[in-house]
Amino acid sequence: MKFVKTINEARIVLKGLKELKKSVGIVPTMGYLHEGHISLVKRSVDENDITVLTVFVNPKQFGKNEDFDCYPRDVERDMRMAEEAGVDVFFAPEADEMYPEGYSTYVNVEGVTEGLCGVSRPGHFRGVATVVCKLFNIVEPDRAYFGQKDAQQAVVVKRMVKDLNMNVEIRVCPIIREKDGLAMSSRNVRLNAEERKSASLIYKSLSEASKLVNSGEKSSHRIVEKVSGILNSDPLIKVDYVEAVDAETLKPVNVISGRVLLAVAVKIGNTRLIDNMILEG
Ligand code: AMP
Repeated sequence: MKFVKTINEARIVLKGLKELKKSVGIVPTMGYLHEGHISLVKRSVDENDITVLTVFVNPKQFGKNEDFDCYPRDVERDMRMAEEAGVDVFFAPEADEMYPEGYSTYVNVEGVTEGLCGVSRPGHFRGVATVVCKLFNIVEPDRAYFGQKDAQQAVVVKRMVKDLNMNVEIRVCPIIREKDGLAMSSRNVRLNAEERKSASLIYKSLSEASKLVNSGEKSSHRIVEKVSGILNSDPLIKVDYVEAVDAETLKPVNVISGRVLLAVAVKIGNTRLIDNMILEG
């Protein structure tokens, strides 16, 4: 595995590989890797000759009062996990390498960025789209791997790729969960024992919603009410949103029909967690 810190080095390494007609998959992450990230890497390793893992805690996607400074980081551990999973190029640039003095260009995807996390995290998806666009320009991958865990992010990236005619295939991979159902996240380590227990209610509430739909419930209002009720029953959980939206357009739906994304964001202590489930009406 090659460890690369600068954009120039990354370009040189990748140019050599592309001359050998190697297909390239990219897995963009913020590091502090877990099995969710590794599932994306494994899929890329299966589908491409070369897998590039990027580890970059992107300052542009964090708001002023968000957790950029205390976001968990451990590059050495990430490198060990990446190498074991079959990563060929580990690209971990510093912030000033990606955003040098005078940096002024941003990618602003409209529409799909406005609801869900876009409401409480203004500017977040502008930061995400910008960094993903930059990574695509640096790596020039054939395929890029994202997790369904960040469902809105995946929709935003797909929209950007389509609108800007980027020559990369987006693959969205399933959510990997802990034994009790909690979606794996680098932020989970910030939960104390009590908070961790409460966090397991997120998946339980989504599963209850899915049961309701399977037993014939069609009203998204009643589904959302059920999920909110379960989450609000725990005093440690502060609900940011529970919403049922069309899985492709992210527009709110009244009736569960077709593919509906039931998306949840909560705060437990100082930790913001998101999760979701696709309901098939
Ligand atoms: P992050 O490092 O949190 O920015 O995540 C990097 C990528 O890994 C994103 O595409 C996430 O959606 C994906 N990811 C994070 N957690 C999971 C998970 N539990 N299951 C599957 N993919 C995940």
